Amino acid sequence: MPDLQTDNPETRIVNCHVHTFTTAHTPLYFPTKLAAIFRFAPFLIRALRWISARTPYDETTDFLKRLEDFHRTGSRKTQQDVFREILHYYPQSTRFVVLPMDMELIGHGPVEQDIFAQHDELAKLARHEKYGPQVIPFATIYPDRAGAADEVRRCVEELGFRGLKIYPKLGFAPDHKVLMDEVYPYCVDHNLPVMTHCSRGGVSHKGWSQHRSDQVTDPNAYIDVLRTFPHLRLCLAHFGGDSDWLSHLRDGFDPDDPRARDKNWVSLIAKMIESGDYPNLYTDISYTIFKFDKHIPLLRMFMRQPKLKEKILFGSDFYMTRQEALSEKAVSIRLRDQLGETDFHQIAHVNPQRWLGEGGGAGELPLDQVTASG
Ligand SMILES: [Zn+2]
Repeated sequence: MPDLQTDNPETRIVNCHVHTFTTAHTPLYFPTKLAAIFRFAPFLIRALRWISARTPYDETTDFLKRLEDFHRTGSRKTQQDVFREILHYYPQSTRFVVLPMDMELIGHGPVEQDIFAQHDELAKLARHEKYGPQVIPFATIYPDRAGAADEVRRCVEELGFRGLKIYPKLGFAPDHKVLMDEVYPYCVDHNLPVMTHCSRGGVSHKGWSQHRSDQVTDPNAYIDVLRTFPHLRLCLAHFGGDSDWLSHLRDGFDPDDPRARDKNWVSLIAKMIESGDYPNLYTDISYTIFKFDKHIPLLRMFMRQPKLKEKILFGSDFYMTRQEALSEKAVSIRLRDQLGETDFHQIAHVNPQRWLGEGGGAGELPLDQVTASG
């Protein structure tokens, strides 16, 4: 039987956003001290689920089942074990951008394996005889760590990594000096794309308020970066995040507040890309699209915008999505069905290749520089 999703052999899917890190890479007390209890006594979640299955509350049982799946995936021994799980849900020709995280210095307790070990293990997976060809490994950086920029160079030059992931609200601004002086110029010189976390959810540095986290996550926080490095291919992940998608659809915009549209990150990202001022700015729909029925109509509208449709990347955020009701496969098939072959091909194949810098090198020139250089 033919592989269902490869009916169009031209569409070789790239999932631009997945994770394979394990419990060994997450801080002991994250997100709360309670987490440590679950880590050492996973049977507690199972016990809770068993009890709740005997009550009339289906939703709670569902939720606990998903929590259990999430913990089970995260507690796999190796990144390869997690990666093998992702492979269940996609055609065999699919490739995956794998994004590590450095959570050792974020204030939630020690990690068993540091970022150097996490990078090394990911490099090993990328060299694996069978799975390696499907892995596109990215490095990550916590710029206040000693030797942070050196580690990025090691990942690229010695381990063959293909891009960089940053996660500012773990404790730094996107225009941190190390990034501006060393890392972004290096990415431009080496034709490496950058992925950054852009939603109000996710992990924050211990003690950081929502406001402080939002300040370094807001698309506006990247304007300086984008202006200084117009060739940097930067992806704002999650397209602003599902709470901003919901608010866009549910609350709309206050007609008397001239800034209302810019306070909503979905609307702001769409505006920034459509403006043409940032020709190498991208966004991905990872996690956000798992609220599928609510969000697909807006995504379809965005795919009618001429500039925006060139800059939206398919990504899922596995295995964070194990907390959601739909599986990876259900979402990617629904997406393909609802968008149609042309648009699906655009976000899952054409745009990712351009963002990754495959077959053609550097990013687009800003318009003024095109004219300036003739
Ligand atoms: Zn993610």
